[in-house]
Amino acid sequence: MVTGSARIRSGEEVRRLNGKQRMVIRKSATKKGGRTAPSPAAKSPAKRKKKKGAELKAHAAEILARLKKEYPDAHCELDFATPLQLLIATILSAQCTDKRVNIVTPELFQNFPDAESLSTAAPERLEELIKSTGFFRNKTKSLLGMSAALAERHGGNVPSTMEELVDLPGVGRKTANVVLGNAFGINEGVVVDTHVGRLAVRLGLTNETDPVKVEQALMPLFPREDWALLSHLLIFHGRRVCIARAPKCGDCVLEDICPSSRV
Ligand code: SF4
Repeated sequence: MVTGSARIRSGEEVRRLNGKQRMVIRKSATKKGGRTAPSPAAKSPAKRKKKKGAELKAHAAEILARLKKEYPDAHCELDFATPLQLLIATILSAQCTDKRVNIVTPELFQNFPDAESLSTAAPERLEELIKSTGFFRNKTKSLLGMSAALAERHGGNVPSTMEELVDLPGVGRKTANVVLGNAFGINEGVVVDTHVGRLAVRLGLTNETDPVKVEQALMPLFPREDWALLSHLLIFHGRRVCIARAPKCGDCVLEDICPSSRV
C-alpha cells in the first residue's frame, strides 16, 4: 500500500495487489508506436562496456566508416587559399566560430597579403579588423609575433614541420596540426578541438579530457592517412548531430554503437 507521505509521480503507475495492497511501479519510457524503450544501461550492457585492444580498434573503424559515408564532403570549414591564410584563420578561430572568422578574413587578407606586411601592421588597425572574433588583443599580439617570426626565420613562408610551427608565437599543437593536415596534407597528429574531445569521450574512444591526451589516445586507433579527415568528420558530426548540450541521438548514424546514446 502507498502509505503516509508517499506520492505518485509522473511516469509511475499504481497497481492493486490482493484487492487492498497497492504498489508504485515506475513506467519505462515508451517509443513512438508503443514500443517500450528500455533504459540505456538495460538496453545494451555490451554496448556500454569499456572497449579495449582489438575491440576498441574495430569500434573506431566502424565509427570512421559510418562518418565517412555520412559526411562525404567533410572538410576544413575555414576559408583559405595559402598556408599563411590558414595559419591566420586558425589563430583567429580560438573561442570563435569558423563562420565568424570567414567573415573577417577577406578584408584582413586583402590588407595584409603576406607575412612582411602583417608583421608591420599597426596593432590598432589589426584589432579593429579582427575585433568581432573575440580576444582580439591577444590575437593581434599572436598575429604580429607569428608574422614577424615568419619574416625573420622562414623568409615569410609557413614552415611545414610540427617543430618549426609550434616554435612560432601564438601557435600551439592544435593550430600546427590544422595547418599541416589541411595546407600541406601532412598527417602529423589529430586536431582535438572541443567537438573532437567531446565526441571521443561520448563514443567510448577515451576517458581523457586533456586535448593532448585525447590526441594520443586517438592516433593509434585510426589509420594515419585518415587523421586530418577524422577531425573534420568528428567536427561535422559534433556541430550537426552530437551537439554539446542536446545531442540528437535519435538522428545519429552511430546510435546503435554509441555507449552514450540517450535513445
Ligand atoms: S548516439 Fe548521441 S551521444 Fe552518441 S554520438 Fe550519436 S548523438 Fe552523440
